[in-house]
Amino acid sequence: MSVEKLQITLSEFKKAKPDVDHLEFGTQFTDHMFVMDYSSETGWHDARIVPYQPITLDPACMVFHYGQTVFEGLKAYLTADGEVLLFRPEKNMARLNQSNERLCIPPVNEEFVIYALKRLIQIDREWIPAKEEMSLYIRPFVISTEPYLGVAPSKHFKLIIIMSPVGSYYKSGVNPVKILVENDYVRAVAGGTGTAKTGGNYAASLKAQEVAAAKGYSQVLWLDGIEKNYIEEVGSMNIFFIIDGEAVTPALNGSILEGVTRNSVIQLLKHWDIPVSERRISIKEIFELHEEGKVTEAFGTGTAAVISPVGELNWKDKTIVLNGGKTGEISQKLYTTITGIQKGSLPDVLEWTQKADEGLLVK
Ligand SMILES: *Cc1c(COP(=O)(O)O)cnc(C)c1O
Repeated sequence: MSVEKLQITLSEFKKAKPDVDHLEFGTQFTDHMFVMDYSSETGWHDARIVPYQPITLDPACMVFHYGQTVFEGLKAYLTADGEVLLFRPEKNMARLNQSNERLCIPPVNEEFVIYALKRLIQIDREWIPAKEEMSLYIRPFVISTEPYLGVAPSKHFKLIIIMSPVGSYYKSGVNPVKILVENDYVRAVAGGTGTAKTGGNYAASLKAQEVAAAKGYSQVLWLDGIEKNYIEEVGSMNIFFIIDGEAVTPALNGSILEGVTRNSVIQLLKHWDIPVSERRISIKEIFELHEEGKVTEAFGTGTAAVISPVGELNWKDKTIVLNGGKTGEISQKLYTTITGIQKGSLPDVLEWTQKADEGLLVK
């Protein structure tokens, strides 16, 4: 779809902006949204930016029944110079299409969607909180909209992008969390939908999360679905361990979601000459290596928190404490560096950011 095909209808009024000091994640949305429709006859069409509004759907729409849907999550940042930066948006769009492929959703034109997103950001630019560590969270998603109760891929879809201002994930500095290793429920298995960013994976994860929260843990550590032995992910983040000076993360095995932050952390560690190993790693091995004093740090990686250090890990009633329950040196350095690059306050050594007005016809 070409750039001229993007229709824009501006809102007649602007909503009051939220108080940035009391932002709650995902509760407030900007004045506009992007929408594009798909039908098997016309392909993706009718790309438009419109005032943020509810959508009306037939109750028979397939998304409500069989969950044929995918989503993405990324952020836009305002720099001290008043420039808007996007962090590796091409990775998110490529992953959107990988998720689409798995869920039998037709691919979108990645470049066009990035263009439309940049226009949307330009229109709602005033919504990006200026403060340190604050950003605009961007949520693209696709839903199946054919009204049909038969089980088959939908012939109609909608891609929508909504945006929400978010505050700092850490209110008082990076904070390690307590993690419960999950022995009963599993998030995903190879051959399933674990490698796709789709709502069903999240629906499947809620029960374990609820049980862990009731026991006082922030998140669960997911093990593989077959042997319940190998480490997969932590909550909805990828996981890393620092073992004897080497960074170790589970290899992409067909059930792990490949995070953009995971990829960025691997690249940055290599750039710093810290060895990285992507391999199979069992929970037993972690507990044994910890006993030998070799596991010095553990942390989750994802767009929301960037780096989320693990302070404590509980597995079958045994608890290990990592780095004295404090944020480790490598975890902190990764956090500071990545957030600095995102905010434009540190050199973009690996060329990850894009200016949000780059390539726009209207400046
Ligand atoms: C989104 C997600 C991640 C993190 O991906 P990022 O691109 O780094 O935000 C990790 N695991 C799961 C299951 C996810 O859904």
